[in-house]
Amino acid sequence: MTIQEEIDRRRTFAIVSHPDAGKTTLTEKLLLFGGAIHVAGAVKSNKIKKTTVSDFMEIEKQRGISVSTSVMGFEYNNYKVNILDTPGHQDFAEDTYRTLSAVDSVIIVVDIAKGVETQTEKLSNVCRMRKTPTIFFINKLDREGQDPFSVIDEIEQKLKIQCVPITWPINMGKNFKGVYQLLTDKLYLFDSEDKQIAIEPLIIPSMQSSKLDEQLGKENAAKLREDVELIRNVFPPFTREEYLKGNIAPVFFGSALNNFGVKELLENFLEMAPPPQKSTTLEREVDPSETKFSGFVFKIHANLHPQFRARIAFIKVCSGIFKRNTPYVHVTTNKTYKFSNPTSFMAAKQSVIDEAYPGDIVGVYDTGNFKIGDSVTEGEKLHFIGIPSFSPELFRYVENTDPLKYKQLAKGLEQLTDEGVAQLFTHKLNGRKIIGTVGALQFDVIQFRLEHEYSASCRYENLPLYKACWFKSTNKKQLDEFKKRKTAFLAEDKQGRDVFLADSAFSLQMAQENFPDIEFYFTSEFK
Ligand code: GDP
Repeated sequence: MTIQEEIDRRRTFAIVSHPDAGKTTLTEKLLLFGGAIHVAGAVKSNKIKKTTVSDFMEIEKQRGISVSTSVMGFEYNNYKVNILDTPGHQDFAEDTYRTLSAVDSVIIVVDIAKGVETQTEKLSNVCRMRKTPTIFFINKLDREGQDPFSVIDEIEQKLKIQCVPITWPINMGKNFKGVYQLLTDKLYLFDSEDKQIAIEPLIIPSMQSSKLDEQLGKENAAKLREDVELIRNVFPPFTREEYLKGNIAPVFFGSALNNFGVKELLENFLEMAPPPQKSTTLEREVDPSETKFSGFVFKIHANLHPQFRARIAFIKVCSGIFKRNTPYVHVTTNKTYKFSNPTSFMAAKQSVIDEAYPGDIVGVYDTGNFKIGDSVTEGEKLHFIGIPSFSPELFRYVENTDPLKYKQLAKGLEQLTDEGVAQLFTHKLNGRKIIGTVGALQFDVIQFRLEHEYSASCRYENLPLYKACWFKSTNKKQLDEFKKRKTAFLAEDKQGRDVFLADSAFSLQMAQENFPDIEFYFTSEFK
């Protein structure tokens, strides 16, 4: 196969949802179709029911052993499918955002009863920002839920995206009869007894066909005809081009638990979804078909074995062919590395690979040299963008409690924040270190890991702030004035960039009004 053929057959995507909508169940059913797993229950939910650090550590430990669940690759109908897993807990939303930087499309799972929930909204915003092609899977049709038209309406209103239904449900809950495929005029009947076997659809020659009445009963058939007519009048037609631009979102209905609607989703998805796309770097656009290898680190997985600090850095291949034992340059440090044991994540197990293509994820062992966003190339100085840090919202001062372990603490904080667990700031006025996170659980995780992996101990002091945001201005006078007035609220991030620590929404608003020439940024990526 040529490199272009290898690229064209790859689909690298993430499944995201608000917790409990059915992401894990759907992932598992997709893996069953791909033959990557053989029994239900093989995919561990990475959700944390109780938000305690021991729960988190336990889950991370399990995941550390089978790190493969971070990326699940399989072959299906000559497509190479790479599903990137995202954490189920909202305190780890940042990790999810970064994973979204490595995918070419997403499937968002929505619970028919609950509709659009907070996490759905946040994740969808990120996808919209990046113009990531999005497909919705409305799940749990075997239960009573909201009217499908109102769920779609809610998605359109809250998530600001034009939906296009591809399948349409006939009733729900106890009366759920199945779905109608609007593009192919096929009827898929639901059989609650028959969970694992993919049903053969019936081809319906026209909406007036008596086949519909026979299969569904007069009343249901009439309702379906009415719905389909309305859909064809109200929604724009599906075009792949508009979907790929992120302008429309195809919608599928089904029940992941009953394995209903999942095969249709998978097969339609594979045809519609984009192959690996161009990546943006500070220097230029990188095309996947370029002959030279380039990639970036989008995730670092700590190996939680206390004895060694080995980590796995996940590199997304952006262009060219990644080859084992080949010298590549880590652009940040300009050091050359040869990876002798790069792993891929196929069929739910990790295996050493010789080659990987654009769209693939390669895991390489790292002893603390890589950080999120770092580029690896054949030598060209490329800096991939689109892997931002977000303004944290929770802050604590971190204090060393063991004077003999000062160095360990500094190193631990440096490496953990490189991994993207949290962000580290230094207060300009008092020089104290501040940890900023998006979720409360991270503080416990950091303390635990400092102790277990770095033998360092720390204490936190609460720092009630509203947000940390980056800022800059070309108006030097105003910038100097701002810095003078806000001395007590300034910090530096790890790259030495200025950060404003706003203690309330009001003070941020006042700063924006009083210093109109200063631009405030809520993600770390700005020019
Ligand atoms: P996640 O948090 O989004 O990964 O959700 P899970 O896949 O863990 O599912 C949450 C709960 O919903 C579990 O108890 C599943 O068994 C259940 N569930 C998932 N899909 C369906 C479905 O289609 N119908 C019903 N009735 N329950 C479902």
